[in-house]
Amino acid sequence: MYKRVLLKLSGEALSADGEIFNAAVLDDISAQIKTVVDDGVEVAIVVGGGNFIRGRMADDLGIDRMQVDYMGMLGTVINALAVQGALERHGVHTRVQTAIDMTKVAEPYIPRRAIRHLEKGRVVVFGAGTGSAFFSTDTTAALRASEIKADVILMAKNGVDGIYDSDPRTNPNAKRLESLTYMEVLQKELAVMDATATSMCMDNDIDLLVFNMNEKNNIIKAVRGEAVATRVSKGGN
Ligand code: UDP
Repeated sequence: MYKRVLLKLSGEALSADGEIFNAAVLDDISAQIKTVVDDGVEVAIVVGGGNFIRGRMADDLGIDRMQVDYMGMLGTVINALAVQGALERHGVHTRVQTAIDMTKVAEPYIPRRAIRHLEKGRVVVFGAGTGSAFFSTDTTAALRASEIKADVILMAKNGVDGIYDSDPRTNPNAKRLESLTYMEVLQKELAVMDATATSMCMDNDIDLLVFNMNEKNNIIKAVRGEAVATRVSKGGN
């Protein structure tokens, strides 16, 4: 069992049935997080924004990349507020901290303060990514996990139950891996997270668990150390 975890939720993890936010999905995630908090585990969350927009859409839109990145970061704040609202409905105390100051709706990101909230049993939801364009929320997860000294990053994927040695959608012989190193992820260009996030996790020796969030109670199981995830670490075991 881990003591302090950082859960990365992509924007799409909050969506279903063509809805930007799906009530049943938000409810399920919140109920699982409540169980984890009740188990005595400190939980921080980094939310993505891909259910709204991603930087890589810039060319198609004909809008400058940096502008689209800021749109994406603002999308993550909307998601952070949605997650906060859903968690509070389950009686979980939360704080949202944003990397772009918007003090009417959230606290500014202050690492020591975030740690204090965690120690008091509050869930801290980080919004607005790193606050800088040209980064991803995966990199944000690596950065925040390093800053708050999380034991592990839990990467909840939609419909994928871990990491494979090649793409299981195109290669029927693709093999699911139990564990591997960050160097292998980089060398084999495995689509786990972007290279910036991967190398940041490697440099700061943060473990990563990749699991399918569409399987029942997988967030709880991953935190409890059950064998539902592929584990990535610096040393590989
Ligand atoms: N983004 C950014 N800087 C950050 C984090 C995010 O510019 O530090 C922008 C970027 O355009 C990204 C978008 O916000 O594509 C949404 O985040 P992401 O794609 O990581 O969301 P996810 O795929 O996890 O839903």
